[in-house]
Amino acid sequence: MSKSIRKYLIAGNWKMNLNAAEGAELAAEVAALSGQQNTVGVAVCPPFPALASVAKAIEGSSISLGAQNMHYQPSGAYTGEVSAEMLRHHFCSYVILGHSERREFFAEDDAFINRKVKAALEANLRPILCVGETLAQRESDETIAVVKHQVEGGLAGVSKDAIDQVVIAYEPVWAIGTGKTATPEMAQAVHAAIRSIVADLYDATSAAKVRILYGGSMKPENAAELLAQADIDGGLIGGASLKASAFHEIVTAALA
Ligand code: PEP
Repeated sequence: MSKSIRKYLIAGNWKMNLNAAEGAELAAEVAALSGQQNTVGVAVCPPFPALASVAKAIEGSSISLGAQNMHYQPSGAYTGEVSAEMLRHHFCSYVILGHSERREFFAEDDAFINRKVKAALEANLRPILCVGETLAQRESDETIAVVKHQVEGGLAGVSKDAIDQVVIAYEPVWAIGTGKTATPEMAQAVHAAIRSIVADLYDATSAAKVRILYGGSMKPENAAELLAQADIDGGLIGGASLKASAFHEIVTAALA
């Protein structure tokens, strides 16, 4: 099955940057530049306090809204957390889950992330499940084993009906925010492996529908080559998503 059955997704992970007003300003620029077309899916994922202002700024454009995390419980005594329903109330369509910064700084493991993936799907939010190896793991040839473990753990109990709502982001940890990018060939090899892991878990048709994004220092200079790979269906963009013009150049590379 050809790549054309999958719509590219370019998602901006703003991380812990921009307040509500600054976020609205950037989102308005993104909407003006990248939000007047529907060929490529485009999403912005601001911090929680900027969700409302960003939702307003992208209204009427094709830009989707995403969050960067959530709790798996719908409500309750979980100080500091937000639920999937709360994100839906703010018009979120996506939620980034299992980002390596969550895994590293907040000790999130695959079982915990899996509960969030299932809760997101139940609330009609599309999880962007992040997986990826550290430099030490790559150097000791563990990349595919690590990614397999994270994909299987993150998707445990997700039904075949729901799998095409899941987006997977392959983000080698050593490439995030470092300026180091996996070569297109290195990234493609892992993306192909992820698609075959999904095929083994479900079937080839399901695997062919799942979007697999690359993340890790994707920028205008390297986006076209990465996005041209057979199993790379978009990008999860950190640093370069904080400038509407750079982000738009990546969207344009996906449009080409
Ligand atoms: C990310 O954190 O998801 C990311 C890909 O960051 P950067 O593009 O800055 O490497």
